[in-house]
Amino acid sequence: MAGEPKRRTHFTDVLKFLWLMLKKSLAMAAPDLTTGMTTENDGRDLSPVDFIQLQQYMEYSSLRVKDVLKEFHAGGQLVQYRFGERIDETGFYLFLKTYLEADDIPSDLCQHLFSYFQNTERDVYMRTSPPQRGGVYLKDMSCYFSVLEDGKPRDKLEFTFKLYDKDGNGVLDSSEVERIITQMMRAADYLGWDVTELRPLLKDMMKAIDADNSGTVTLQEWIEGGMNNVPLLALLGLKMAELDGQHVWKMKHFNKPTYCSVCQGMLLGLRKQGLCCILCRYTVHGKCANKNPDPCVRTFVNSKKQLGVSFHGWVRADCDSSKCHFCNKKIKTLAGKCCVWCQQMRHDDCVNFGSSSCDCGSLREHILPPWTIYSVSKDEEGKRTSKEDVIPEGHTLQIAPILDTHPLLVFVNPKSGGKQGERVLRKLQYLLNPRQVYNLSIRGPGPGLQFFRNLRDYRVLACGGDGTVGWILDAIDKADLPVRPPVAVLPLGTGNDLARCLRFGGGYDGSDLGEILKEVEEGVLIPMDRWNVQVIPTDPQEIGDPVPYQIINNYFSIGVDASIAHRFHLMREKHPQKFNSRTKNKLRYLEFATSETFSASCKKLNECISIECCGRPLDLSSHALEGLAVINIPSIHGGSNLWGEVKKDDRDKVTAEPPEVITDHEVLKMTSQDLSDKRIELVGLEGAVEMGQIYSGLKSAGLRLAQTSKITIRTNKALPMQIDGEPWMQPPCTMHITHKNQAKMLMAPPAKTSGFFHHK
Ligand SMILES: [Zn+2]
Ligand SMILES: [Zn+2]
Ligand SMILES: [Zn+2]
Ligand SMILES: [Zn+2]
Repeated sequence: MAGEPKRRTHFTDVLKFLWLMLKKSLAMAAPDLTTGMTTENDGRDLSPVDFIQLQQYMEYSSLRVKDVLKEFHAGGQLVQYRFGERIDETGFYLFLKTYLEADDIPSDLCQHLFSYFQNTERDVYMRTSPPQRGGVYLKDMSCYFSVLEDGKPRDKLEFTFKLYDKDGNGVLDSSEVERIITQMMRAADYLGWDVTELRPLLKDMMKAIDADNSGTVTLQEWIEGGMNNVPLLALLGLKMAELDGQHVWKMKHFNKPTYCSVCQGMLLGLRKQGLCCILCRYTVHGKCANKNPDPCVRTFVNSKKQLGVSFHGWVRADCDSSKCHFCNKKIKTLAGKCCVWCQQMRHDDCVNFGSSSCDCGSLREHILPPWTIYSVSKDEEGKRTSKEDVIPEGHTLQIAPILDTHPLLVFVNPKSGGKQGERVLRKLQYLLNPRQVYNLSIRGPGPGLQFFRNLRDYRVLACGGDGTVGWILDAIDKADLPVRPPVAVLPLGTGNDLARCLRFGGGYDGSDLGEILKEVEEGVLIPMDRWNVQVIPTDPQEIGDPVPYQIINNYFSIGVDASIAHRFHLMREKHPQKFNSRTKNKLRYLEFATSETFSASCKKLNECISIECCGRPLDLSSHALEGLAVINIPSIHGGSNLWGEVKKDDRDKVTAEPPEVITDHEVLKMTSQDLSDKRIELVGLEGAVEMGQIYSGLKSAGLRLAQTSKITIRTNKALPMQIDGEPWMQPPCTMHITHKNQAKMLMAPPAKTSGFFHHK
């Protein structure tokens, strides 16, 4: 084993690199986790760290508290831990384990939560009954968790009501309603709400609900009261306005003096918070949201006649001594308005003077102005219109294209990159017309593509991971559009190789979205090859995992590389809390890439695999391969380049259209990779250590085997494989990789800045 000592040196380098990464990531994570940690915990309160942990677990769990609750009823698996209305500590632990779908919830988190709910009773019943030790009330904790879950406010209201309605007679007394409110308060408190303001609001609501002073509340009264209480709805997570002109509230903290646009008072209190509309940034006190605020900005016009006539979208704003665009004098606080499209500011009185036409300001390249969207009644349009844009009065929205514009159609995957996706969604809904920004978690890309299909010239911005981009490209294929729009990418989360190749970076770092929109504007069109994969099992009876995709956008691999991802995938499902931040994700991946133990299953890959490129068999006998990668783009796994660079003068030698297949080692040396050459590259990997070196930049590439337009692979044993990061186990099979089509992509202009996650 002559290569042994050399390998070891490299491996230490890899470890050193990992250690550096770890230190860097800890330094980045520290400010989030350590603040608030200093206070001693007496068991009455959750520490912020507990709460963050809990939220992270909840994010990865797909279960509803409603469903887990069933296990504690007769016939359920956990019924023995229940006594009366309560469950004991073991039962509570099992509840958490089931609900959060995790086996390894830290025991101190369990204990803190348990005593936290024990203390609820002390708070609520202190006056009426002695504290009851030994268990926690199922309904209190269920109510608390349900507020934190995703879901419709109406369902949450109904769920909490039924939890507390013991006898099921549809009536609650006031002390029970008080108890619900206490739990909501506690959840709100941890979500960062100023409960000193919220509590009196809810008390008032209760009074209003119980109109006849009977001391009891019916389900219907409770839901009606709740659905008319704007701050409560915001707490329960009401997201999208159903009507034009309705604000979409979000609780917000302000770090500079801010005023309520309804009562003109300051937003005071410890946390200086209020409700701020996502779409227009109109800001009010929680208590003023119910008091007839100005309507939200108009996002479309009511009839065809109003089309093409531009108008400003004035919204009351804190102009903060900015100059009036009309009279050039300073505007005092709350004495002016700002146009949500062009960002012009004017005095209240100057709004009616000056030009009434709006040029949409610096984002005019992207904005879909409201005067190009009109509503038509469904009857007028007949069956042709899609159902997706129905607004409540039985109307649908249509776009009337304006010449020489190319509005941006935005898709955001809110689940990408932790909470980052949701933040990006909200910001883009403000910067652009909310009607052009689609939340993919609602109905996917279909409705947006339908809405824009009449346009001849528009662009798409995909916000999410590579998987999200693939999803959108697929939807564009299937939508059978008259014109295929070019796609730009705003990368969220980790592993954004495609975005990296298109110079949009490896991950969004929270920087100015306006800047990123500028990059999209300056982007150049580039066709990107996409490849079909057809997998034919040798024995049709043998059932492996389902093949995750039929199309390759980035890369396909067999062996070592795939088994890394396979392990990663399993780990991620088992220990979600370890994979929450992007930094940690990247770290874990690197750790696996450098561990040698799992590569055993792929040793001597050349004995169980045969390959043909355009019908020409490839001789693999001289290489000890543990992995094979078929790569379409010059970046995989967060920036590593498996094919490697080509010296510039070498690159210049190859000018003509590339041949169908190249396997000659000397020629391959001078062959570079290209997104749009209708060729795909085949690379051999010699093992886990080599992979580690490639990831950490110590070695630049794998072994070049071929560049070709068609690949057939035959395997004679089950092997781990992956397509675009999605791993699966594949029994013996024959697979054909052929060119599918080219997607129109936008490539950003060459980078000016480069951060830690901006390796390009
Ligand atoms: Zn107010
Ligand atoms: Zn608004
Ligand atoms: Zn304007
Ligand atoms: Zn003025």
